[in-house]
Amino acid sequence: MPVKVQCEKLCPEWPCEQPDEFHDIWVVMEADEHGINEASLQMLTPAKKIQSKKPDEKIVAVLVGHDVKKYAEIPIKHGADKVIVVDDPRLATYYPRVYGQVIVDLAKKYKPAVILVSATMRGREMGPYIANTLRTGITADCTDFDVDEKTGDVLMIRPPFAAIMLAYIKTPFRRPQMGTARPNVFPVPEPDESRTGEIIEEKLEDILDPGMQLVSHTPVKRSEVLIEKAEIIVSVGKGIGTPEGVQLAEKLASLLGGVVAGSRKAVDAGFVTPDRQVGQTGKSVKPVLYIAIGISGAAQHMLGVREAGRIVAINIDPEAPIFRQSDYGVVGDYRPIVEALIEELERLKQEGPQALEELLKEAQAS
Ligand SMILES: Cc1cc2nc3c(=O)[nH]c(=O)nc-3n(C[C@H](O)[C@H](O)[C@H](O)COP(=O)(O)OP(=O)(O)OC[C@H]3O[C@@H](n4cnc5c(N)ncnc54)[C@H](O)[C@@H]3O)c2cc1C
Repeated sequence: MPVKVQCEKLCPEWPCEQPDEFHDIWVVMEADEHGINEASLQMLTPAKKIQSKKPDEKIVAVLVGHDVKKYAEIPIKHGADKVIVVDDPRLATYYPRVYGQVIVDLAKKYKPAVILVSATMRGREMGPYIANTLRTGITADCTDFDVDEKTGDVLMIRPPFAAIMLAYIKTPFRRPQMGTARPNVFPVPEPDESRTGEIIEEKLEDILDPGMQLVSHTPVKRSEVLIEKAEIIVSVGKGIGTPEGVQLAEKLASLLGGVVAGSRKAVDAGFVTPDRQVGQTGKSVKPVLYIAIGISGAAQHMLGVREAGRIVAINIDPEAPIFRQSDYGVVGDYRPIVEALIEELERLKQEGPQALEELLKEAQAS
């Protein structure tokens, strides 16, 4: 049973509501002209986990924006029971306060028990706005979610700063219970084309002053694949030592058709740019192959590679923690090892592109 709130003990500004007045698990969808982004669909996975322990609760996707109604079926195919859509030309430009307030108003009307938001740039802006305006808590960067069997409260699970333990955080008195998870921590649930669900269209009445104005919009030019989408990643740590070492890693990545990423210490040393940091405060990645060169394997780094297929570690220290979490480990100075790999890959390339492709396919299948 959820805890009963003693209203007289609450701050007088706060609405006095009992947790059991709130129902359903909301997942905030992010959409633009390219469709619904994968990161928000991934949040349907923890929503389904919570629902498996609370089968009376429905999963509701909330889709806010302009020209987004056409995407409403997508979350249903991936596991949502209902979708609430607010589609309005006044939402053509994303402003955190405006979008956040639309969700706040919907939450006041429907009273969801849980709101899950992906910790994308938008999610990191909107999530705290929604939580603060609704006077509730939010747990950022969860790595898992569960349900407290006694109270039915959602348990938001995440590593505390710099620790190897896990913290179980709950919001016993306030509703909704809010949590975020970073992109790629969870997979997108497999679609089921036969699923159907209710689509509720809500009209936008008043719109909040955004408090800011978009002056111009220049898409960032990206010459390479984003690390969160890359199939093959060669990741460098502090042990790479010099910019020449990074060049070797880049050569290896390019021969494999992959990209270079790095640990936080590699970012601090200027070996890779911050948008390529893997880990707790960087990005979560899900490549088929992750080659870690000169990375010790700190818990904060390894959190970012939970979804990786094969992990290959190259490290001079046989006791390096990364070897405990790798599929293959090579002990030694990385230079001759990476040079030998490059030499072999170049030889294969000369034999024809098929030889290398076949080797990669074999590695992926094994
Ligand atoms: C709150 C918090 C958040 C954090 N977030 C992140 C994060 O998102 N991502 C992240 O990566 N870290 C993060 N960290 C930092 C993390 O704890 C580690 O300090 C960091 O991951 C270590 O980076 P590294 O493995 O490159 O360096 P080190 O730990 O210094 O390891 C270098 C490795 O290189 C090896 N080496 C040295 N020379 C060679 C050589 N010639 N050949 C082969 N191997 C060699 C060494 O044996 C060693 O294992 C976070 C820390 C905190 C407190």
